[in-house]
Amino acid sequence: MTEKLYDEDAYRRTFFAHVTQCLKKDGKYLVSLDRTAFYPEGGGQPSDTGVLNFVNVLGVHEKSGEIFHMTDKPLPAGAAVTGGVNWSRRFRLMQQHTGEHIVSGIAHRLFGGDNVGFHMGEEFLTVDWSRPLDADQLATVERLANEAVTKNLPVRAEYPPREALSRLNYRSKKELTGAVRIVTVPGYDVCACCGTHVAHTGEIGAIKVVGSQNYKGGTRFFLVCGAQALEDYGEKLKSVAAVSSLLSAKPEEIARAVKRLLDENAEQKHGLSALLEKFLAGKAASVPANRGDVYACEEGLSPEALRRYALLLAERCGGTASVFSGPDGSLRYALANSVGGDVRPLCKKLNAAFSGRGGGRRELAQGSLLAAREQLESFFGDSAERVL
Ligand SMILES: [Zn+2]
Repeated sequence: MTEKLYDEDAYRRTFFAHVTQCLKKDGKYLVSLDRTAFYPEGGGQPSDTGVLNFVNVLGVHEKSGEIFHMTDKPLPAGAAVTGGVNWSRRFRLMQQHTGEHIVSGIAHRLFGGDNVGFHMGEEFLTVDWSRPLDADQLATVERLANEAVTKNLPVRAEYPPREALSRLNYRSKKELTGAVRIVTVPGYDVCACCGTHVAHTGEIGAIKVVGSQNYKGGTRFFLVCGAQALEDYGEKLKSVAAVSSLLSAKPEEIARAVKRLLDENAEQKHGLSALLEKFLAGKAASVPANRGDVYACEEGLSPEALRRYALLLAERCGGTASVFSGPDGSLRYALANSVGGDVRPLCKKLNAAFSGRGGGRRELAQGSLLAAREQLESFFGDSAERVL
């Protein structure tokens, strides 16, 4: 059994210990100590990182009361070591973890349900709530959680005697056996937890819900706490400033400016597609009527315009119209027939001749192929007339 120094004092960053064993595993080493301040991964909190003497601790896990430090170099059994926990990382996790307690405690009391899965990430932490929580409910939880921070309440972690425990009403993710560690934020949360927490709620800093989504019949919401909240705010300010500059609009007016831009864009698209239709119809009308099968090469047609032009041309010519567009050597095509013919055999032939891909219905097919325009000329030969 490893003595858990973090359990007594979450603020312990350095410690002395002795190596009890060192196992080699997958090119790394698993080092056990008689005592440690490194928190092993568990209860939603990732493990600590840091150093043992001059050896890097990459991760930590616990198995049957023994704590294993994964290191990149070996440490001999019996050696005396000085351990140093990566404190900025750990403190961030403590801020997040304590923030999560307060938020879960409030949501549980006000709206029922519980935290059934939680994950601390670099950018935010996620909480999976067993019942749906809407935006207003989450806003209420967030407001009260920040009140708890302002009150700078002491956060207690203790192992109550069995009898006191049986009378205690606390949140827990699973059935617990043995000594149960209870973490209390007075007036806000009582929860069984083995993690590390700040000593006073004021140390958490801001708690912010940054998003939510439906998840397995409940709600998954995203939280940022403390240093993480500040970084998140900084990143979002940068985004807003960039958009604001691009739109030449004040930050508080960017939503309106984007809406205006989208409306203008939709209007222009509408106008453009009407113009294109007019242009293609005019072009098709310039081809003498009832020519039978024809083909045409056009510059810069979108797939939609290509299809439209093939249909207009087929109608005009009374046969199969094949239209090609794109840079020489790599062309897109649309084949259309409006008088009951089947374009699919031609489509197959084209694909086979020019490493093409594509297909469609009897009256319309689309695809792409690898051919130069002159090659199309010899492909069609006398079977179809080229029109401009
Ligand atoms: Zn906890």
